[in-house]
Amino acid sequence: MTIGFIGLGAMGTPMARNLVKAGFAVTGFDLTAPIPDGVAPADSLMELADQETIITMLPDGKALAQVADGILSALTADALWIDCSTIDVATTRKIGESLLANGCGYVDAPVSGGISGAANASLTFMVGGAAADFARARPYFDAMGQKAVHCGGIGAGQSAKICNNLILGATMIATCESFDLADRLGLDRQKLFDVVSTSSGYSWSMNAYCPATGIGPDSPADHDYKPGFAAELMLKDLRLAMEAAADCGITPAMAQRAQEIYAEFVENGGQGKDFSAILPWIKRA
Ligand code: NAD
Repeated sequence: MTIGFIGLGAMGTPMARNLVKAGFAVTGFDLTAPIPDGVAPADSLMELADQETIITMLPDGKALAQVADGILSALTADALWIDCSTIDVATTRKIGESLLANGCGYVDAPVSGGISGAANASLTFMVGGAAADFARARPYFDAMGQKAVHCGGIGAGQSAKICNNLILGATMIATCESFDLADRLGLDRQKLFDVVSTSSGYSWSMNAYCPATGIGPDSPADHDYKPGFAAELMLKDLRLAMEAAADCGITPAMAQRAQEIYAEFVENGGQGKDFSAILPWIKRA
């Protein structure tokens, strides 16, 4: 099977490498990033029009719409498009429907696992689209990740991703606030961890990715808050959640506050740091 891979940045490059490792013939295109060894370079988007599968790993819905405008009408009728970018649900649905109307297949398949998951082929894919297209995409997911969950129709993958990250953003802030309060109350951080990690306040943020240095399993807090999952990417996902919520006519209060806090953090020194670095930032406030 031939693959056209578009968007060879921090995530796309290791994902494309793993496809090559699994024996797929990959041709790559990026506006600026270098094409990794083993991937055949394309000089233009149109050079990818005859590929059987298109995989995109782009920054946002605008970039995906631009790429789709450039290539969609030239694709072969039974091509399959797998979009692994994290983008807004509305653009996903619009582009997915245009592809189906052109006779192609489409799945939205955003990932969890970050740069290390992309490098180790241990990503989790959250997938929206027809069952038949999910089945066609499965061999690629197997080459790039360890798990793929079929969440429903087109847009369900992006929906799952932003619903998950809404919880993650809010619980990370709450976890950091509880460490800050514990400090002020004179409660030892290790004791707080020992209690909370086995009590009803436990969460992935506390148990698996503890934001306090030297507490719990190894995490970005133990490496000067080098990401990990960067604060600006958390902000991006919270904005996508709020956009999707607005389209549904609701304003979820925790998500809104989490978005405001991450926006303030990113503008005031959080850019380029892990999203758990909000703990020392809250402490300084
Ligand atoms: P990145 O900025 O490193 O890479 C994006 C690449 O897309 C860049 O190389 C850019 O030149 C290219 N690009 C942009 N517009 C283009 C166009 N019109 N045509 C061709 N190429 C174009 O970003 P990344 O960290 O690789 O993230 C990619 C996606 O994965 C994002 O949607 C992000 O939210 C999501 N994601 C990232 C992580 C992470 O930890 N980095 C984790 C999960 C999900």
